[in-house]
Amino acid sequence: MRLLIGLFMGFVTLWGIDGYNGKSLIVTLPSPSGIISMNDLNISVLSHPYDRTKGIVILPIDYYTPSGEVNLTWVSPGKIIPLSVNVLNAPYPTETLSVDPEKVSPPPEMLERIATEKAQAEAIYGHFTPIRYWNSPFIKPLDTFITSEYGSARTYNGSLKSYHGGVDFRARTPIPILAANDGIVVLAQERYYSGGTIIIDHGEGLYTCYFHLSRFDVNVGDYVKQAQPIALSGASGRITGPHLHFGMMVHGIQADPLDLISQIDNLFPKESDEPLTLR
Ligand SMILES: [Zn+2]
Repeated sequence: MRLLIGLFMGFVTLWGIDGYNGKSLIVTLPSPSGIISMNDLNISVLSHPYDRTKGIVILPIDYYTPSGEVNLTWVSPGKIIPLSVNVLNAPYPTETLSVDPEKVSPPPEMLERIATEKAQAEAIYGHFTPIRYWNSPFIKPLDTFITSEYGSARTYNGSLKSYHGGVDFRARTPIPILAANDGIVVLAQERYYSGGTIIIDHGEGLYTCYFHLSRFDVNVGDYVKQAQPIALSGASGRITGPHLHFGMMVHGIQADPLDLISQIDNLFPKESDEPLTLR
């Protein structure tokens, strides 16, 4: 069911938004103002990237959200509007993986490093930069076969249960990795689980992440343009073989990156939408 927006006596009403656990939802709103509260998150309504008279909100739906109704409130000047999203279970596959045992049961001397890296990532993803660095659709960071989709329920070495928080692209030999869109490099570092890692802040709570890299071609603080080479793929961190793991974070929550890229793409007009010119 798609979103319906009704305007009755000055009140905007939204009905019937279906969403899936693990997939974000971009909703177009009639005005670019206000804040939407969802669970304990307060999410800013952003300006529409193509039609500045409208607003968009990117609602992150955590992977572990149970199915059912999630109530939201849109607070905008002079208006308080209740909304709801009907969360459905996405049909994710299961995967069984074998990795270095130390990446499942880390040695005690690594625990402090792992905790520090986790806190550092949470601080980055929780930061809202009130600037939009991008103004065109996002691209994939490389164009190869996808070896593992977002959302698979994973079991590592027969014990550790997790889920796949990004998309894996085949990269058997080191391949240049491209920035998915304009932004600022906020992390370029070797990490315990994700290996060589780059994180780009695209502004307004949106980040892209590139894992298991073998070489960095950018530094923290660099402004990068869409399609700029930022690194070489590799086989570092918790892996079964060389590949690129690509992720996206929205307001601190992991999103399905290719699904989100396609929803952002849909905000822009397509060539086929151009009006026909009569000759
Ligand atoms: Zn991955």
